[in-house]
Amino acid sequence: MKNKNEGKKMLESAQSIIKSTALSLGLDAFVIDKLIQPEMVHEFSFPVSMDDGSKRVFKGWRIQHNSVLGPYKGGIRFHQDTCREEVQALATLMSVKCAVVGIPYGGGKGGVMVNPKELSKSELERLSREYIKKIAHFIGQDKDVPAPDVNTNPTIMAWMHDEYEKVVGRKEPAVITGKPVERGGSLGRTSATGRGGVIVLKALLSKLNKSTTKNFVAFKTSELTVAVQGFGNVGYYFSKLAHELGLKIVSVSDSKGAVYVQDGLDPDATLNCKREKGTVAGCYCKGSVCDIKYGKSIEKNNILTLPVDILVPAALENVINKDNMKQIKAKIIVEMANGPITKEAYDYLSKKGVIIIPDVLANAGGVTVSYLEWVQGKQGYWWSEDEVNEKLKEIMEKAFDDVWKKSKNKNIPLKQAAFDVAIERIVKAME
Ligand code: NAD
Repeated sequence: MKNKNEGKKMLESAQSIIKSTALSLGLDAFVIDKLIQPEMVHEFSFPVSMDDGSKRVFKGWRIQHNSVLGPYKGGIRFHQDTCREEVQALATLMSVKCAVVGIPYGGGKGGVMVNPKELSKSELERLSREYIKKIAHFIGQDKDVPAPDVNTNPTIMAWMHDEYEKVVGRKEPAVITGKPVERGGSLGRTSATGRGGVIVLKALLSKLNKSTTKNFVAFKTSELTVAVQGFGNVGYYFSKLAHELGLKIVSVSDSKGAVYVQDGLDPDATLNCKREKGTVAGCYCKGSVCDIKYGKSIEKNNILTLPVDILVPAALENVINKDNMKQIKAKIIVEMANGPITKEAYDYLSKKGVIIIPDVLANAGGVTVSYLEWVQGKQGYWWSEDEVNEKLKEIMEKAFDDVWKKSKNKNIPLKQAAFDVAIERIVKAME
């Protein structure tokens, strides 16, 4: 369970990597301070009427970290354990993520301390509307553009968007992204994060196949095995698209269990099975057939230490840590969740030669298609799903290439290279 201390740790770790990157780039103290301090912190409380006629007060934040490259951009999370420090850390990482992929945004993040599962649908709607009323004058399509995050979704974005337009008294289709398609959302947004992860993984594999290193000799994509922790939105689309690329998905997990299918499982059949059973546990699906003879159940945490080539944490933060880092066997880790590897485990695995595609690059497909939704909303002209996917591919491939080149030129891991690329871009725009 998260608490203020964990939020503090997360903030310290985000600030520490920015600081060390800035120092290595020879930036002066003023610039480093500018990169670390948020430009604006909105902290507030607001009352919400409950269904029984009572009222409750909720605490909320919108933190605007850096706007040098464009309007602030970042999701709104509803979580009982969120706190100012966590929201600030996430806003800081959004500045980096947007700069890594080269989209014209700064970083922001919002949060409300609430367990949305304890609210009825109408209470949730009232809370969402009251929250956005509180920040309506600080956001705007050219100022700060919120989106969904943990426990918020397109329906909640639609409520917030509607309330925002009532407050400002005009239409503003691009002020919030992640809206339902019928309300100005973009085609391709649902699969975007998983798709972006597979695009950068494919780019990495192609580079590795060309340059044999001590850990890698030439390989066939179809020989590579993959384990995906978390079979939710991101994990499912990642598995599906990696499977289509020819990779062998041998294991997937969710909060209730994990399956292992040595010859590779079928993500679509597994999703259908999960929908029926409520979990992937027991879903041994090859082709369109699910049968126990194909696989076995494993303890959900053991997915992380399976002897696979590629490990994809796509569920929670800090899951690869000092307790299991020595048992990790994968040669490549794709950080699809935010912050799935602790600093200690990251240092250990990097030293061991494990290639880690960092979250600020690997999971940036989501914010990239949010950007494409914003562009479509501003111009009032909508692209087909293929057009959106093609633009996402272009942006992600370029971002990977920039980070890869930096990593090779400076002989540094991809994560350090991603922060270098991002900070250089932000600082250049500050000059
Ligand atoms: P989701 O809620 O759709 O899926 C999360 C999945 O993780 C669920 O299947 C859940 O059962 C599983 N899970 C929870 N605890 C687990 C455990 N202990 N072991 C294995 N599985 C477990 O969420 P999502 O949108 O897929 O997001 C996943 C991660 O990706 C989060 O860290 C999120 O911050 C990050 N992310 C998401 C997006 C996006 O566009 N959705 C963008 C960037 C980053």
